[in-house]
Amino acid sequence: MKVLKFGGTSVGTVESLKNVKNIVDSIEGNAIVVVSALGGLTDKLISTAKKAASQDESWRNDMTAIEDRHAVIIKSLVKDELQDEVNTTVTQLLKDLKRNYEGIWLLRALPDQTLDVIVSYGERMSSVIVTAIVENGKRHDSLNFIKTEKWYGKNIADRKLTESLIIEEFKTQGENEKSIVPGFISTDTATGEITNLGRGGSDYTGALIAAALDADILEIWTDVDGFMTADPRIVKDAKVIDHLTFTESMELCSFGAKVIYPPTIYPVFHKNIPIKILNTFHAEAPGSLITDNSLKEDLPVKGVTSLKDTSLISFELKNENELPVLTNRAFNAISKDGIKIIPVSNPDNNFIIDIAVGSGEAGKALKLLEQELAPEISNGTISNLQLKNDLAALAIVGKDMRMKQRMSERIKHSLQRQNIEIHAMSNGSSDTTLLYIIDIDKTLEALPLVHSLVI
Ligand code: ASP
Ligand code: MG
Repeated sequence: MKVLKFGGTSVGTVESLKNVKNIVDSIEGNAIVVVSALGGLTDKLISTAKKAASQDESWRNDMTAIEDRHAVIIKSLVKDELQDEVNTTVTQLLKDLKRNYEGIWLLRALPDQTLDVIVSYGERMSSVIVTAIVENGKRHDSLNFIKTEKWYGKNIADRKLTESLIIEEFKTQGENEKSIVPGFISTDTATGEITNLGRGGSDYTGALIAAALDADILEIWTDVDGFMTADPRIVKDAKVIDHLTFTESMELCSFGAKVIYPPTIYPVFHKNIPIKILNTFHAEAPGSLITDNSLKEDLPVKGVTSLKDTSLISFELKNENELPVLTNRAFNAISKDGIKIIPVSNPDNNFIIDIAVGSGEAGKALKLLEQELAPEISNGTISNLQLKNDLAALAIVGKDMRMKQRMSERIKHSLQRQNIEIHAMSNGSSDTTLLYIIDIDKTLEALPLVHSLVI
């Protein structure tokens, strides 16, 4: 059985929904179809909430536009005999949504939990509509079987419980049934409150279901032909990657390729279920296939990406011998708070420890380091603890990258020749990714340069 996931652009318009119908109706046998909210709607739901909380009357116009947009799609695509039923259900959801907006308008504030409820309406409505459009559609409500728990203040999937609830939910799936599931949304295991899997999380819903049910494949239907060797808006000769490994896709995603939501890969990787990236607007294109091992015909380097919003924390050692111990302590101090570290080291100075992190977490990481290293800072073993912002991580992803010393040197020299300063680079800990931390305003120049060297 396969699990398909259609993103927001795929379910965003009457035209694109016709493509979705064609794709789903042509599947023989049963399948599970996860859907996002109508394209752009989640952003709209959030901006409208912010308007209402800040006493901007125009939230009412936004609400009307949301109602109209759903009404047009229902009117154009839902069969006559289902019109009343779908209209009643979606109208009720829209009413509830509006009540939530009225609430924050009166409250003049937007509590996180209320925002989670508000954004859930996107997928709740799109799934009702898609169920009515496809043949043999039956809706399954993920609020009942996708569960989250709190982890450092964030909601993360409660994998164990979710797995058993998914198995239970789909035990009775009909023979030709196309089960339609709202992506992204979930409920808290402890409180039952509505939560979600994070922006872009519908992919993850698909992966959790595919893994729990041992699906044959997880198909991610989107608006591009697959993973590309680079962002085609920046690198003109970027091309589709036919095949890549789970690890390579994970690295490309965590360093800026926006094809799938990075956590998506873990559950299916674990079960060795292939992922295919396909284009709803170009259904006959082969797409990108992701499996566990490289193929003979694979290119050695898969792609070049860049991750904006990267910051670098660095400090100097008095004595090079301290490097392993202090690096370890620094890493532990930062990562025990759930902050993700990008593994790099200084390109030319062994007395400097460099730690790259996402800019959003850099301030917190710096504080944690100041605490951890306070004794060494005060006795002078460590100096110059500093934070640098406005950087980007340039990632070159492929197979056996640790062995590619010559390539790594060549990239370094080419960048430096173009006066692109390398603040830090990979430390050899990854066999899949070479990294260069550069100034963010140099990425448009660096990407095509590096792409032409390695692809
Ligand atoms: N609708 C949600 C978002 O826009 C989830 C998704 O599309 O994957 O983030
Ligand atoms: Mg997405």
